[in-house]
This record gives sequence, C-alpha cells and structure tokens, in this order.
Amino acid sequence: MIIQLEPQITTDQLAGLEEQLTKIKYSVNPVKTQYANYLVGVGKTDFDIRSIGTLPGIKDIHRVSDAYKLVSKKWRVDNTVIDLGDGIRIGEGSPAMMVGPCSIESEEQVALTIEHMKKNGIRIMRGGVYKPRSSPYSFRGLGIDGLKMWHEQTREAGIKIITEVMMVDQIEEMHDYVDVFQVGARNSQNFNLLDALGEVDRPVLLKRGISGTIDELLASAEYIFSNGNERIMLCERGIRSYETAYRNTFDINALVMLKEKTHLPVIADPSHGIGVRRFVDKIALASAVAGADGIIMEVHHEPEKAFSDGQQTLSFGQAEKLYQQLKRMEWLQE
Ligand code: PEP
Ligand code: MN
Repeated sequence: MIIQLEPQITTDQLAGLEEQLTKIKYSVNPVKTQYANYLVGVGKTDFDIRSIGTLPGIKDIHRVSDAYKLVSKKWRVDNTVIDLGDGIRIGEGSPAMMVGPCSIESEEQVALTIEHMKKNGIRIMRGGVYKPRSSPYSFRGLGIDGLKMWHEQTREAGIKIITEVMMVDQIEEMHDYVDVFQVGARNSQNFNLLDALGEVDRPVLLKRGISGTIDELLASAEYIFSNGNERIMLCERGIRSYETAYRNTFDINALVMLKEKTHLPVIADPSHGIGVRRFVDKIALASAVAGADGIIMEVHHEPEKAFSDGQQTLSFGQAEKLYQQLKRMEWLQE
C-alpha cells in the first residue's frame, strides 16, 4: 500500500498511522522524495482500507499489490513528465529524441554533433565518458575531462547532456555537468548505485539489464524512487536471447507492457536494441508506433570511424531521414 502523507502531518498522527500498519502486520517504509512524503506498507493481511484511510494526516491511500509500489501505475494514473528546464519535457505528449555518439571522442566530434542537432531541433545529447566495455583493451572513455569539455560546448548551444555513470564515486564529480544520469544495462541491478542516484537532484534514465525481466527493471526503478528521486525514465535496449543474428533482441513488447505497468516515461534504444546500423531506423519507427515516450540513438559524423559501437551508429544523413519519417508520423514535432 502507498500512503501519501499531508505535508503538515504531526508526529503523533504519524505514530498513530505506523501503529495501525503494524497492527495489520504491514512493514512501514517511510519515503521522502523531492515532491512528497509517503509511507510504503508491505504486507499480506487483508484489511479494510477505511480503517487507515480515515486517519488524520493522510492525503491519499492506495492498495498496490505489485512487488514494486511507487513506480506502479496502479496508484498514479497520470504519467510522470520529466522537466529538464528550458522548455524540454519528457513524458506524455512530448516525445524526446536523444542523439549522439556512443562515446565522446573529441572537441571536433562534439561540435559537429551539436551542429547536426541544432539543424534538426534536437536538444538532448547522449554520449559516454565512462564506458562499460566487454574488453579492458577497448576505448573506455575520456572521463571527467571529456565531460567538462562536452559540457562547455552544450551549455553554449542550450543542449542537455545524458551520460552514463558507472560508480557511486563518480556521481559527485559528474553532477554539475550532467542533466540526466544514465544507468547502463550492466549496472541495472547495481543496487548501491541506484540507492545513491535516489539522493541526487538529477533525472535518471535506467536501462534494462542484459538479461533483466520487466519486473526486475521496475524493481530497480523502485530503488531510485524510494531513496527520494521520482524523476526516472526506463529504457528498453534489447535483451540477451538465444538469437545470434543480431547483437540484442529488441523487446518491442516491453514498451507496451511498461506503459501499462508504470507511470514513468519509457524510452527506446534502437541502436543497442538491434545493433545493426541498417535496421536501426526501422526499430526506431516501430518504437514510436508502440508508444515510446522517447528514443535514444547513436549518431556520428563518421560512424565507420567511431571509437565504439560504430556498427550500430547512424550517419547524420541517415538520422535526418529518420527524423523526417518520425515527423511525418506526427510523433516528432516539426
Ligand atoms: C550506451 O548507451 O552506449 C551503452 C553502453 O548502453 P547499454 O548500457 O545499454 O549497453
Ligand atoms: Mn553504445
């Protein structure tokens, strides 16, 4: 159960409420976010909701039977909209396009990408400065200095940055240069990182684990929310299956299922989703049809020369064709 508390609830009222929950054998989990105070009750006993709902100090009470609670759509019917400032909003009715290279490589690359984005009215740039790579000998990112260089250029251009954080220790140094923290597939169940991002005043894009189920993704999002941060987006980026004809199996089903299960925005990553450049546009279009709230996609001025993931990266020209198609579908705004 989720109980939203009145902001002016008294200590006595809170104690009374906790006593009532304990009586029906529910555990009491206080949650304080940037927007509200809640008590999350977890238990199995059948109870009359009026015995709690009528107590003083309660704004709202909902039964939520899912294992995840605060991210469930069962208690919050309105979809969450994430406001990045400067008129950039992600969520119901305002799909977001996030593009950029797999890895931030150089000043020139950043400048050329920004130019491409400005030309096409795209305002959120992706890119990794800390890269999780399967081999330790692959390019692992420019690190904090790369992020600072990137930030300097995007700030001038009015473009927001989304980038992956891999460790709790990186959060603080990255914080001021980042608009959205990305949690990569490999860290989807790094619960210490999720806890820490719950305490940060930046939105989080949480990717689905390489072999993660939808419910595991939602449970991971619950970690962030229950630690205080309601500004979360979920990302389908393909899962590991028995299929080897492409890099990952993009689970289009997850998009519709997540939209039903959660009020959080759902973002599609067609680049990692299929991992094959010539099909990325098709998967992006399918994601728009399936109701994605946004698309995060890899683009590069010279994809063949990209330091990472070039095989799934669109050239600017290819990306522009896709934007036109998404506009024709009236998914992207002109
Ligand atoms: C990325 O976005 O470049 C990335 C490493 O993604 P994922 O965590 O989905 O593999
Ligand atoms: Mn990549």
